[in-house]
Amino acid sequence: MQLYSTKRQSPNVGLKEAVLKGLPPDNGLYMPCIIQELPQQFWDNLATYSFAEMAYEIAQHLIGDDVPAEDLKKIINNAYYFDAPLIEVGDFSVLELYNGPTLAFKDFGARFMGQLIGYFLRNNDKEVNILVATSGDTGSAVAQGFLNVPGIKVTILYPKGKVSHIQEQQFTTLGANITAIEIDGTFDDCQYLVKQAFLDAELNQRLKLSSANSINIARLIPQSFYFIYAYKQLEDKSLPLYFSVPSGNFGNLTAGLFAKRMGLPIEKIIAANNANDVFTLYCETGNYAPKASVRTISNAMDVGNPSNFARLMDMYEDSLERLSENVSAYAFNDDQTANCIKDCFESYNYVLCPHTAVGYLGMQEFIEEQDLNPLYVNAIVLSTAHPVKFGEVVEPLIQAFIKIPDRLQSILKGKKKSVLMSADFDVFKTWLLSKE
Ligand SMILES: *Cc1c(COP(=O)(O)O)cnc(C)c1O
Repeated sequence: MQLYSTKRQSPNVGLKEAVLKGLPPDNGLYMPCIIQELPQQFWDNLATYSFAEMAYEIAQHLIGDDVPAEDLKKIINNAYYFDAPLIEVGDFSVLELYNGPTLAFKDFGARFMGQLIGYFLRNNDKEVNILVATSGDTGSAVAQGFLNVPGIKVTILYPKGKVSHIQEQQFTTLGANITAIEIDGTFDDCQYLVKQAFLDAELNQRLKLSSANSINIARLIPQSFYFIYAYKQLEDKSLPLYFSVPSGNFGNLTAGLFAKRMGLPIEKIIAANNANDVFTLYCETGNYAPKASVRTISNAMDVGNPSNFARLMDMYEDSLERLSENVSAYAFNDDQTANCIKDCFESYNYVLCPHTAVGYLGMQEFIEEQDLNPLYVNAIVLSTAHPVKFGEVVEPLIQAFIKIPDRLQSILKGKKKSVLMSADFDVFKTWLLSKE
């Protein structure tokens, strides 16, 4: 597999280099040189595959010889022991992507990446430092994906007071090779500090740095798997296929477009935004104007400058017109989101997390705007997190308690350990070097 930089100012690389580096030296983003359609045989056999079997076929198709078949099988089998069921909720289907260890869809990307990096470093003598900025869910997924993987240290930066209690517990209580830094600032500050670290010559000379945000191609590749797995579960595959994707950094949506390029017959992907609507505004006006993120109840989507925007632009050669053939975007405020959670519970006895509710609203708006009959389409909403992770928001709305899954109980009892830090790059750099 060969990958190029979206800025095209640095050479193409193989998968190992792209994954370990995270970012190309020209500060673009890595993209696969070729995304070919899956062979007909794959689609003919799809019904017989388990999730892991299907994931292996897709990964093998994309990655080729960069990882030998037996190793790739092991990576997939270690990463995926949980399912992604498609559930009918009202007029739409909801793809539940929250059955992994951290109860959110990021487990799909992070676990694959953790295993893959562990594989690439299996004979390495120098420890690799993974730096992650998180607005909530990335941190816990990455921490779990790398927990106890030999040769890897993980540093997680998160905005103080801006993630939920459960999220914080999930990445501050693990210990071992995982360290959490609490930044006095916003998620964008955290993301900036990580980006600066990758661009800092001295740091890169002294430490082996790697990223694990959705900018790492190792997280995007596996996120394409479940779009195809949703399709596998559809009763009538002949109906037009739509996905609504609750979006923040747009890794999930970009992965859906990879699936489309691999031959999944998606008519349209709906980008569902909360009040952080820079992408929706871009689709409406053609003007991309990043801004500071604002806080919402769907906080994992509070992103003011989505990191995968460059990949989207690259895929559509900077043409909004071409992008719009495949992608529609809508934005919703917290009141609309809260009402959607309430309505879905009252009408269908189904509990949405706030992010999934934004996705549900996106699908509703699209179906209405296009005047489609929901009975004659396959309308799939990606459910990105278990509602219990946002119990503080959801429980008062539905006036009921959400049962905490067993795998979360023990984490809630753990003791928080974090390093408090101001949003100052020199402070962060000094800290990193002191841990060398
Ligand atoms: C990260 C996250 C999102 C946004 O996904 P992107 O790939 O960044 O667009 C949506 N919902 C939840 C629960 C998340 O954790």
